[in-house]
Amino acid sequence: RRAFRAAALAAVPLLVMTACGSVTGGPDDRPLVGIAMPTTTSDRWIDDADNLEAQLVSLGYDVRLEFAENDPAAQVEQLEAMLAAGADALVVGSVDGTALTGVLADAGDADVPVIAYDRLIRDSGDVAYYASFDNARVGVLQGTSLLQGLGVLDAAGEPTGATGPYLVELFAGSPDDNNATFFWDGAMQVLQPYLDSGVLVVGSGQTTFAEAATQAWDAKVAADRMPTLLAAYADGRRLDGVLSPYDGISRAVLDATRTAQATQPVVTGQDAEVDSARLVASGEQFSTVYKDTRQLAEVTVGMVRALLAGEQPEVNDTATYDNGVRVVPSYLLTPQLVTQDNVERVLVDGGYYTAQEIGR
Ligand code: BGC
Repeated sequence: RRAFRAAALAAVPLLVMTACGSVTGGPDDRPLVGIAMPTTTSDRWIDDADNLEAQLVSLGYDVRLEFAENDPAAQVEQLEAMLAAGADALVVGSVDGTALTGVLADAGDADVPVIAYDRLIRDSGDVAYYASFDNARVGVLQGTSLLQGLGVLDAAGEPTGATGPYLVELFAGSPDDNNATFFWDGAMQVLQPYLDSGVLVVGSGQTTFAEAATQAWDAKVAADRMPTLLAAYADGRRLDGVLSPYDGISRAVLDATRTAQATQPVVTGQDAEVDSARLVASGEQFSTVYKDTRQLAEVTVGMVRALLAGEQPEVNDTATYDNGVRVVPSYLLTPQLVTQDNVERVLVDGGYYTAQEIGR
């Protein structure tokens, strides 16, 4: 069936797009690709979905797209429905990376390849490939930029000799997302020596991943945690910096500190969401980590295309992402740190946003 589909694909001219609910495409002789995305509450996943869908459709595939709104059970149902609809490949940005073992086994039984999109899917032998960014590197960039913002490291990443102590707080991502520990471990690899030597002090004393975790990456969860953290500064000490793994959390942190103290702490981030790109440009959020979702879509679509043509997708990492059952062959893109100094060059010159969108 797959060979037939691939042959059919080669024969179809670039298409007439029709949209019908969340299914785009045309007559049923085209391969169907299911795209399961975690949520619409963060811009990035909407952009990811748009990029994937546009590229797949322009190649002549039918696409069925669903967002699970951070509900793992809903995502399982959506994937089952895609399989029932005859999906030929699945691209999955998982909500809970450990909750898909069953439905992926069904995909495996039906010989439908699964690509883990951005987030590794764990505990399954049925994940064919993984397309993401170098997630440990994301964490290293976040930790490094926190130290740069505080003046502990210079722009080149060399120690300045500053001894602090600087008061900081730590946030981690969602524990059900495999990426969250990669970001945390990458950041802590950079920060730990400075915590050990007392250059950095966590005012609240909350230093473990479990204490720092933010369920579902929810900005509201982060906002609710802030008063507890800020209570440690009621004696008039100033919070100097916050490790934040994601822009939505960064903005929640900044909202809380804006009313609590006269000057804003150094706050990191991730995704270069437009609202944060604007805050980086204005100097309120110190940094974000930019991950070009257009490139991630391109890599993923390349994988889908190769798999449906019976070819081997290109990978650049076969050692890092052990999902508990197998080391999933991966293609990892390079994330980039964005600060006030390069925000315009990277995001505007790179065509991600207009100058106006980021307030320039
Ligand atoms: C992604 C990040 C994103 C986070 C929250 C992670 O899996 O890699 O880019 O900030 O989820 O959506």
